[in-house]
Order: sequence, then C-alpha cells, then structure tokens
Amino acid sequence: MNVPHSARRLTLAYTLAAGLWVAFSDSVVAALGLSLEQLESVQLIKGLLFVLLTGVLLYWVLRTYQQQQQRANLVLSDSETRLSRALSAARDGMWEWDLHTRTVFFSPDYTNLLGLPPGGLGNDQENWLQRLHPDDREHFQRSLEQRLSNASQDPYEVSYRLRHKDDTYRWIQSRGRLLLDDQGRPERMIGTASDITQRRNDEDSLRQAAAVFDATQEGVLVTDAKQHIVHCNPAFTRITGYSQEEILGQQPSLLKSGRHDQDFYNSLWHALQSRGGWSGEVWNRRKNGEIYPQWQNIRVIRDEEGEISHYVAVFSDITALKRSQSELDYLAHHDPLSNLPNRLLFTERVETALERGQRDKRRGAVLLVDLDHFKLINESLGHATGDLLLKEVGERLRQQFQGAMTLARLGGDEFGLLCEDCATAEQAAGLAQQLLNCLSQPFVVNNHELFIGASVGISLFPGDADNVAQVLRNVDSALFKAKSSGREGYAFYAQELTEYARQRVELVSALRHALEHDELRVYYQPLMCLRSRQMIGVEALVRWQHPQRGLVPPGEFIPIAEESGLIGAIDAWVLDKACRQMVAWQAADYALRFVAVNVSSRLFSRGELDSRVAQVLADTGLDPAFLELEVTESAVMDNPDAALALLERLRALGVRLAIDDFGTGYSSLARLKRMPVHKLKLDQSFVMGLPHDQDDVAITRAVIALGHSLGLKVLAEGIEQLEQVELLEQLGCDHAQGYYFGRPQPAEALLAQLPLVHCATAPLEHE
Ligand code: C2E
Ligand code: MG
Ligand code: MG
Repeated sequence: MNVPHSARRLTLAYTLAAGLWVAFSDSVVAALGLSLEQLESVQLIKGLLFVLLTGVLLYWVLRTYQQQQQRANLVLSDSETRLSRALSAARDGMWEWDLHTRTVFFSPDYTNLLGLPPGGLGNDQENWLQRLHPDDREHFQRSLEQRLSNASQDPYEVSYRLRHKDDTYRWIQSRGRLLLDDQGRPERMIGTASDITQRRNDEDSLRQAAAVFDATQEGVLVTDAKQHIVHCNPAFTRITGYSQEEILGQQPSLLKSGRHDQDFYNSLWHALQSRGGWSGEVWNRRKNGEIYPQWQNIRVIRDEEGEISHYVAVFSDITALKRSQSELDYLAHHDPLSNLPNRLLFTERVETALERGQRDKRRGAVLLVDLDHFKLINESLGHATGDLLLKEVGERLRQQFQGAMTLARLGGDEFGLLCEDCATAEQAAGLAQQLLNCLSQPFVVNNHELFIGASVGISLFPGDADNVAQVLRNVDSALFKAKSSGREGYAFYAQELTEYARQRVELVSALRHALEHDELRVYYQPLMCLRSRQMIGVEALVRWQHPQRGLVPPGEFIPIAEESGLIGAIDAWVLDKACRQMVAWQAADYALRFVAVNVSSRLFSRGELDSRVAQVLADTGLDPAFLELEVTESAVMDNPDAALALLERLRALGVRLAIDDFGTGYSSLARLKRMPVHKLKLDQSFVMGLPHDQDDVAITRAVIALGHSLGLKVLAEGIEQLEQVELLEQLGCDHAQGYYFGRPQPAEALLAQLPLVHCATAPLEHE
C-alpha cells in the first residue's frame, strides 16, 4: 500500500465528512423544531457524538499504522537476521560507508576478521586506512575514486591486505556496490568483506607448484586410478622423447624396457598398495628405443573417501650419473699414472681370491715388486722421468702378466701381482723370476737407457695367512727380506720356502743348461733272465753329470723336470741315445733282446708319445721289437681309457710295453686285463723285504701269479741278495734287475757283461 496516498485520501474523507457535519448538522437539528432546552441537549449530544466518532477514527488510524509498522519491522529484522547469519556463516563481514556523513559501519564479523572486538575499527575511515597495507593504498584509492566519479552502480570487487591484531597482514576481498540518492549522486557504499588469505596462499602454492612442475629437471607423470596418463611435464618429454599429445591417455607400460621381470613389477605394485609409495631404479625405453636408467618415486594419491584417485611418478634420468659413477669407480680403483688397478682394487681382489680359494680349495700367491734404487732416478733425472719410467714398467709388466692375474700399482715404485691359481712355491718363485727377468731389460725413457732392478716378496695363501690384511703384511715383510738379502731377488714370507724354491728354480735353469750342454748321461742296468741267469736286456737310466755336484741321480731332477716341462726333452733325448746304443750293440754282435726306456707319466698322458717314438725309431733305425717302454702303473691307471688307446698305438708300432713300479699304484684288474702290455715290473719296495717279510713274499707271489694268469712276464726290481734271487726263482718270477746282477753303468762299462751272439747259452727268441 502507498502510505502518502492513503493518508491523503483518509484526510480528505475526514475533512469532507467533518465539514458536512459542521455545515448541515445544525440545520437538521433546527428542522426538528425542538425547544431551546431540547435544542441545547441535542447540541450537546451532537458535539459529544462528533468527538466520539473522530476519537474512534483516530484510534483506528493509529492502530492500523502501528500494526503496519510492527509488521514492517518484523520483516526487516527477519531479513537482517538472515543476512547477518549468512554473512557470519560465510565468515564475511559487512560494511557500510555513508558518503555524506563520512561515517563507516563495520559489522562485528568484519572487525572479527582482523581479530578486533565489535566496534574495534571505530566508525570512520581513518582507523581502517591505517591498517591497509602501504603497497595496496594507491591501488585501493584509485579504484575507489574511479567508481565514485563514474557513479557506477555495478557490483565491484577489490582485494587488499589489512593488518590483523597479531600484526600479520590478511588478504581481504571486498565486494560492494555504490548507492545513489534521488538525484543520482553517490550517497553510500555498502558491501561485504571476506578473509581470502588462505585462498591466496593456496593459489600462490599452486602457482609455484605449477612453475616447479614445468621447470623441474625431473620428469613428472600423473595417471588416473586406471593408469591412464593424464598429465606430464616438459622434462618428461625431454627425457622420454614423447610429447604430451602422444602420451596422454596412454599407459606408463608404454615406456617399459623389458629389462625387469614380472616379479619386479609385482613388488612395485605391492609397495604402492601397502605403503602408498615406491622408490627405486627402473630401466625404461625412450621413444627412440634407447634403454636408460631412471630413479623413480611413485606416490599414490587418494581422494577424501580414501580411494585411489591418481598416481604420480617423479623420475630423473640417471644415465649420466651412472656413467660418472662408473668413471668415479674406475678412478677410485685405478692408478692414474699407469692405469693399473690401485691398492684399493688390489686389496679387494686379494680378498675375493682368498674367499674363492677357501671355497674351491685352491692356492694362490701375492707378489710384491719393489723397484730397486728408484729414488736415485727421481733425484738424478727428475720426477717427470721417474713417472715415465713407472709407466713403462707398468706397461711392460702388463704385457707379461695380462689375463688371469691381477697386476696393480700399489703406490710409488711398488707393484703387486695376484695369482689366484698358484699351487706350489716353485710356481710362485717362477713368477717372481719372470717378473725379475721382465724388468732386467733396459728401459728407454726420454732418451735415457735405464736399468732398473727389482725385489720381490711372495706370500702364499691360504698357507701363510687366511685374511687379506695378514697376506699383505706377510708379503711386505717378504719384500723386506728380499731387499735386505741383497737386491734383485725374491723372498718368500716363509724362509724355508725361499731356500727351497730358490734351489728348485735354479735347478730348472741348470737342468735346461745341462740338456743344452750335453751334461746328461745314459746309464744301463742289466735285466736278467732268472732261469738262465743271462742278461737279456738293459734298462736305460738317465744321470746328470753336474760340473760341481758330480753325478746326480734321476730322483733329484726328474720330478723337477716333470714340473717344469723339461721332461719331454729329456725323455726324447734318452730314448734317442738308448736306441742308438742298441743299434750300435747289435752292430757289434751283442746279443741283447731289448733296451728298456722309461717314459714319464707327464709325457704319457699327453698322448703324442707314439709319434715321437716312431720318429726316434725311424731316426735311429732300431727295429721296434728291440725297444721296451716302461710306463708307471699310476700313469696308466690315472686315465685308463686314454692310456689304453695310447698303449695300443704304441703296440701297433711293434714296441714292447712294461708296467713299471707295479704294486705302488691302484690297478684295477679288469683294466689291467685289457692293457696291451708284455711285462709287469714288481716294485723294489716289495723285493726289499724278501725273503723274510711274509707280506712281501705273499705280495710277490700274488703279482707273479697275476702276471702269468694275464699272460705277462714278471720282472722283480731291486734284487741285491742271492736269497732274493733264489726265492724269486722258486716263485716262478721270469726276470730280475738289481745291484746283485749289476748297477746302472755307462755303456762302455757294461761291455764286458754283455752276451755275445755266438756265446749265448739261451735262444734269443722273443719272449
Ligand atoms: P725305475 O724305472 O724303477 O728304475 C729303477 C731304479 O732302481 C733305478 O734308480 C735303479 O738305479 C734302481 N735300482 C736298480 N737296482 C737296484 C737295487 O738293487 N737296489 C736299489 N736300492 N736300487 C736299485 P735310478 O736310476 O735312480 O732311477 C730312479 C727312477 O728315475 C727310475 O725308476 C725311473 O722311474 C726314473 N728314471 C730314470 N731314468 C729316467 C728317464 O730317462 N726318464 C724317465 N722318465 N724316468 C727316468
Ligand atoms: Mg724303470
Ligand atoms: Mg721301477
């Protein structure tokens, strides 16, 4: 209802009614023709009635107005309450600025935003402006003035910082509207304010995160719960070669390199499910097919309900790292001057060798080489030349010992050599000698010809020590020993080994020298027929006519010759000599049925013996039937199948075969039966006890019976007494050998004993 209009209408109606009443009521009363007295009474009643009516009207008007006012107030207060509830629920404050009075109203929620009590901002702008951040003042003023000058009633929004009671600044977002008066002039501004500090911070964080996401060197990949790629960053593209368009919607399995098995991925997924994350090294494949290593962190992202919503993988390409790691590793383990392994790597290798040796029951050796008087070179020719010399030494040693051994420069002029497979002290001594020989040739450095000697310390493991520290200590003290016992030599950690090995090594070179300088001799020992007591053959036995030591028996040098490999040459030499001698005897009409020659088990196992024998027979012209080869029982039985084949080839040549030292090995009767041999030579250790030792008697009897049952002749070795001869004859032994009949002696010395063809008492038919 329009209040001014209805008031006007009401007033008009009242004025009209009252006017009519005043104008005509008296005439109506007069027309009644009443007496004066009556007239006075009627006039009184009429006046009272007028007052009553106007009073009732006034009451009605006032009451209606009051009721309307109350209703309007109620509606207003309802809407105010709602507004204030809504603002307070949104934690928003309200403000109103009267532009005429320049007063400002701040709602309690507004002041609360700044930690102030209601009314804490006063009711003018002054207080408020003091709290506005200095950097925001200009911007705020400008936008305000613009709005006022435009008199725009559009809603507006502005953000600024206000100082909180705790002296921190809070970001406030103000939304409001300018209200105009009836003339269209700005009258007041009203609006709400809310604290958006958290939102601003969140936005800042998001902006920073986005910048990091784009700028980071790490590849980032985001997939949804079903592992479809939903996001990746530029680094991802740079590392993998896949652009965002190519990869979005794909699955990360596209990047698989195939280098990991299913178990790897199973454990990755298990970690993601159970721990919510996984970190580790993964090999992936780039778009161009190249496989590369990456360090990857994968995290699971869950939504408010705890359901997996995304997976985020952050990874870095560690190809370069790996490369530099291996370069670093190389640098850490190698000596930059010589490029050889350094002490660290050498120690590690020794440690591994010790473990491996223990496991495989193998022996090894560590050799420490120290250049003699190297200091002098440094001092006289300068360190640069010294360094070059060390480099050259390293290079020369590397060429010599490449392969199965580890050669290292341990520092200064010290080199180490690890040989994991060094069964004996002689072998180690041989290595040391090889080292010394290798360094004995001069080095040419910067046009200087330099001779540099060296000393070598040797420690054997596991004999000397069973841990790396001990081995290295031992080899050090061995080196010290080598240095102090006159340089240019080697020494073992164990003194007795040094002596022993030295002798052995010297012996080998002396033996080689002996072979080259004809110091070996062949002696011949008679082999007798027990029944006829006639010499039927001779055994060729080698001797060494040593210039200082005199005649050296084979027992002292054959084992060394076997170890050093010289035995082949020695046996061939003896075989040749013996065959020539036999041919000579035959030419001189001596009636020997055969010459027996020993063949080393080493040579025998090599399998080329038959061709060598054939060669000698061809060279010397000896009829193969006059040659008997003696091989030891152990040589035959060590590898019976190969031995059988070789013996058959030898037999095919026409030579005779005897098993030497029979009874000392472990013959299998089944095998023995198949061996194409002619003779068993019963070892002298059984003959020695004859005729009194009953065990030896029993063994001798058994061997004779065995030999005969296999169709073989039996010879007894080492006969020194007549009783032995008689017993053996009694037991049915065929042949005999021993000092009783004659010692090994030079061919010339044997001449007197040799039977001549025409005086032979027994037929010379082959046995
Ligand atoms: P073997 O083949 O069993 O030779 C017999 C050894 O017994 C010879 O020792 C011989 O001197 C010795 N002997 C012979 N009769 C008696 C005796 O009545 N009493 C004693 N106590 N000993 C006697 P030798 O010449 O010292 O040879 C030892 C071993 O050296 C030989 O044993 C043989 O296995 C090996 N040998 C000798 N010469 C050669 C050779 O040219 N090549 C090869 N590979 N080995 C050879
Ligand atoms: Mg022999
Ligand atoms: Mg023998």
